This record gives sequence, structure tokens and C-alpha cells, in this order.
Amino acid sequence: MRIVLLGGPGAGKGTQAKLLQDHFKIPQISTGEMLRQAVQNGAVLGKQAKEFMDRGELVPDSVILDLVDGRLSANDSGRGFLLDGFPRTVAQAEAFETMLADRNLVLDGAVSLRVPTATLVARLSGRRTCRRCGTMYHVRFNPSKKDGVCDRCGGDLYQRDDDREETIKARMEVYERQSAPVHDHFRAQGLLREVDGTGSAEEVFRKVLRQLQPTH
Ligand code: AMP
Repeated sequence: MRIVLLGGPGAGKGTQAKLLQDHFKIPQISTGEMLRQAVQNGAVLGKQAKEFMDRGELVPDSVILDLVDGRLSANDSGRGFLLDGFPRTVAQAEAFETMLADRNLVLDGAVSLRVPTATLVARLSGRRTCRRCGTMYHVRFNPSKKDGVCDRCGGDLYQRDDDREETIKARMEVYERQSAPVHDHFRAQGLLREVDGTGSAEEVFRKVLRQLQPTH
């Protein structure tokens, strides 16, 4: 199964990716998490990317495409993969198609999680992320059992720099301008699967699975 997950910041891509990863036993490839790792490790790439991330802007396509191309060559993608946060521009989507064609692979679907903007903003502003495993919580809608500690791995929970109010607005604008057209790209190929992304993670997951079932 080869899937890409689309949707605005806070739409639930990371959460659904983790559920899909466990269900289909395929690796989650999250460009955002790869970039945050690079920032944490002090890698040159991380230093360059952080400036864009902190402003809520997209990291240049060339950087992202190198990352994804390298990651797809790892030998854990045999059963498929799940891309979360990529492609985010039409240019990335086109380059991705070439990467797949070069490997004789086809995409099974592009799942788009639809969530109203006001809900996205509320989700992002209260979001807390585990520094160790990336699991996400929300201070009101989905708090961890122990304050500041991840239920899953005991890691430390923090607020991402780009989940602060000033940056959230910029990310929403960038999404509308640069990433929303990616939907049309996949729609034109008959690959777009739209899912109502409101409701609990489990409810949304059931809808995602239904959309991924073969139609015939
Ligand atoms: P995410 O964790 O997917 O919300 O990504 C966090 C930030 O990383 C984004 O706001 C961008 O600055 C950067 N980023 C992640 N994925 C991409 C991508 N495919 N293209 C460009 N920038 C990206």
C-alpha cells in the first residue's frame, strides 16, 4: 500500500499516519519529522530548514525532494509506505511521480483530511508533541495522563515552535496558497480520497480505511 496523506496543518495527518503505519505495517515517512530530527541533531540541513519552519514557510522543494528520494531508497519500503506532509507543492507532486515511475511503483491513493480552518487553529494552538516518538496530544481535547509526559513512551511533551499563534496564521496562508492545489493534481488522476477529518482519531481512522478499500 502506497499512500500520501494531505490536509492542512493540524488536520490529523501525523495521527492518522501512525494508525495506518500500525495497521498496514508500512513505514510512515514524515518530512516534517525528518526536518525536526535534522534540527535536533544540529545538522546543516536542519539549520537551513529551521529558518523556514519558524516562519511557517515551506522549506525549498530541492531540499525536500533530496530527503524523500533518499528515504524511498531505504529497504523498508517493500510493502509500501505512507507519506505524511509530502507532497506540499505541485512541483513536489510532479517530481514525486517521476521518483515512483523510476522505481516502477504506483500510488494507491491520496487521502485528504478535510477539517474547517477554525478547528485546525484550535487543534494547533493546544497541541503538544512527544520529543521522543512524535505522538501528539492536545491540552484540552486529548491530554496525556500525566502532565508533560507521553503516555506511549514516557518522553517529554513540548510545544513545537511553529505551533505558536503567530506562526499558525502564516502556515494556514501558505497551505491555502501552495498546498491546496496539490489536491487538484491528485483529483485529476482519480487518486484523491476525501475524508471528513473532524471527530475522534478512531472515527476518522475508520473513514480513512473505508476510503482505501478497493471500489470494485
Ligand atoms: P509538518 O510537521 O508536516 O507540519 O511540517 C512542519 C514544517 O516543516 C512545515 O511548516 C514546513 O516548514 C516544513 N515542511 C515539512 N514538509 C514539507 C514539505 N513537503 N515541503 C516543504 N516544507 C515542508
